[in-house]
Amino acid sequence: MVVQKFGGSSVEDAGKIREVAQIALDHRVDGRIAIVLSAMKGCTDLLLQAARDAESGKSAYRDALNVLEKRHLDAARDLTKGEASALCRTLEIQLKDLRDILHGVELVKECSKRSLDLIAGFGERLNCQLMAGYLTSLGHEAHYIDASKNFIITNDHHGAAEVNFEATYRAVETRLKPLKGVIVITGFVASTAEGRPTTLGRNGSDYTASLVGAAIRANAVEIWKDVDGVLTADPRYVKGTLVLDEISMEEAMEMSYFGAKVIHPSTMLPLLERGISLRIKNTLNPSVKGTLIRQNPKPHPYAITGIASIPEAALINIEGSGMIGIPGFASRVFGALARAEVNIIMISQASSEHSICIVCREGEADTAMNALRLELKAEHEAKKIKDCELVTGLEVIAVIGENMRGRPGITGKLFSCLGQISVNVLAIAQGSSERNISFVIESKDREAALNTIHSAFLGHGGQP
Ligand code: ADP
Ligand code: ASP
Ligand code: MG
Repeated sequence: MVVQKFGGSSVEDAGKIREVAQIALDHRVDGRIAIVLSAMKGCTDLLLQAARDAESGKSAYRDALNVLEKRHLDAARDLTKGEASALCRTLEIQLKDLRDILHGVELVKECSKRSLDLIAGFGERLNCQLMAGYLTSLGHEAHYIDASKNFIITNDHHGAAEVNFEATYRAVETRLKPLKGVIVITGFVASTAEGRPTTLGRNGSDYTASLVGAAIRANAVEIWKDVDGVLTADPRYVKGTLVLDEISMEEAMEMSYFGAKVIHPSTMLPLLERGISLRIKNTLNPSVKGTLIRQNPKPHPYAITGIASIPEAALINIEGSGMIGIPGFASRVFGALARAEVNIIMISQASSEHSICIVCREGEADTAMNALRLELKAEHEAKKIKDCELVTGLEVIAVIGENMRGRPGITGKLFSCLGQISVNVLAIAQGSSERNISFVIESKDREAALNTIHSAFLGHGGQP
């Protein structure tokens, strides 16, 4: 069986839903296909804002509910014409549940992370019921699966839960085996083994698709977007990006980890383990081949594969002679940050061991600083280290590619082109895989840096 995932940009209204349904129907194998859908474009943001508004007693959440209701009911009427009433009733039941939950949040003035996960998933539930109802109205066999009902099983880390692969694979396989026709599965949502609602983090529907694909050992997993495939850089900031024909699973992981929004960073892992390839396709342009992500991709002639970047980053510098040669110092630093649940994006340490520099998201910087100051209080008071220094307003840029391995001169060319446009580099790290060089610059330099590197390595300055 083939698994296809369609994102918010592919399913924003009745017209797009019609196109997606046709793509899915065209790709059935022995009359079966599994499709994973996200919420309609913008709906998850709307739901999260509604939850915050309800919590702070702002009646604006009711306007958001009305918008959601109108978008889904209008689409249902447009798609099913005269027979819309049954489908509208199904959607209205979901919408009433959502209204009740948000009213509850308004009354208690509290929205726990668990409630937020429940609320955030309504966009997926509404959209998938809409699609299944539409397919049924066309006379096709269609099944709706709510992935938060004993399907994708996770721990209780609400907001970005971790998957229990064994339990998930078992549940998915058992559930899908007897089903025929088009199986419509909600992306993004999951539950704990006890049935409490969780989510896989923003953009998590890509990950749902790969989990379903791995569970049933699908022939192919396809993620349909609004771009022709994985591009060499984010098209919103870089001119002249190219569509990548084939890339390795590791390159895709590095690109998405370093901010390439095109795929959720965990998507590749289940597929890599089961040797299943992944194709990125364009709903707006279905005849284009897209990008194939697989083990041992066809080589390409450029020195690098792509550039990605993470905005709103912060750098923390810990400096002082007190850490030289003391075993366990780095482990205490990382331990303190792990306990405070700070996600470290990048680390660099000079070989003199005189300073450690850590990069995290700006939103986590205060938590990180507090955790480090507490952990290193004794050393600071004994003047063995200086006070931790925080720099915000930064951007992490990562240059990625299998071709960089063992190829001298890349780093030199990279930093000399940044030097030519006077971009100041605050920290640099290179993984031992040599597949990635990442560095930190000021946010104001982002577009200049990305475009200069792109044209030097992948434009006319590259070496095809
Ligand atoms: P979906 O809603 O289908 O999941 P997303 O909006 O989450 O789609 O992701 C697709 C978007 O990712 C594209 O429209 C593009 O603007 C952005 N993007 C960022 N980096 C890249 C890249 N390297 N290649 C392709 N798209 C990228
Ligand atoms: N709808 C969710 C989000 O907006 C999940 C997804 O789009 O993949 O993050
Ligand atoms: Mg997405």
